[in-house]
Amino acid sequence: MSYKNTLQKVDTEKALSLIGIEYQTQGAYVKFPCPNCKEQAVIKAYGDKKNLYYCPRCKVSGHIISLVMKVLGTDWNNANKLLIKAEATTKRIANELTMKYELQYHHFLESQGISEKTCRDLEIGVPKGKTMLAGCIAFAVHDEEGRKIAYYGIRIKDLKPVFHKSFNPELYVFNFFNVDSKEPVYFSSNMFECIKNIEQGRQCMSNFGLPYLSRFQLDLLRYYEKIVFLVDESLVKPFAVQMAESQMNYYRFEN
Ligand SMILES: [Zn+2]
Repeated sequence: MSYKNTLQKVDTEKALSLIGIEYQTQGAYVKFPCPNCKEQAVIKAYGDKKNLYYCPRCKVSGHIISLVMKVLGTDWNNANKLLIKAEATTKRIANELTMKYELQYHHFLESQGISEKTCRDLEIGVPKGKTMLAGCIAFAVHDEEGRKIAYYGIRIKDLKPVFHKSFNPELYVFNFFNVDSKEPVYFSSNMFECIKNIEQGRQCMSNFGLPYLSRFQLDLLRYYEKIVFLVDESLVKPFAVQMAESQMNYYRFEN
């Protein structure tokens, strides 16, 4: 695989975890200690400059492969081999998920203004027992045909996303299958906001909290003539740029 391919495919957060670097995410950026001066450096987790980093303090820059080499003191080949473990899948899930969690309503959902009935209807809740989504709010995810293909989780204690490696949120739009293009369509990047809007009778979709729209998601949004975006102020500009660049239909932002 070419190194540019690696930069596009590797999940930045997974890669940093893999080499034992502590980080903080902020929108499309991830902050971590600079390998040179230990001050805060930034690496881009999405888009064109994905997996390129820069330290504003000492001006050192590089990409995720050179970062791994530096941090682990290893060579190019070994760094690449290691990074394969941090790749996000580019495959869509072909089969319907037969596994079903026993989901419980949780006071966190109540605090978000989401009712027990909505959770039952949409298959949302905290899974019972020992599962990879223990301690998470799990959301059943369906493909465009309405087949359940995965669960997406948000950990209650820190709101970090948790999901199986076979599922890549870039390849789906949450609740797309339920939305009628003849009615007004809403879109929120926040999963809880999305559910709250559905509860209020709006047709709402979400991109699983990603701070950008993937190519695939942009393509799916073309099905709708008009879309209202309910996103944080910090995301208005990046989303508007993406929508304009891909020459999308009529859309507007609402707070
Ligand atoms: Zn530095």
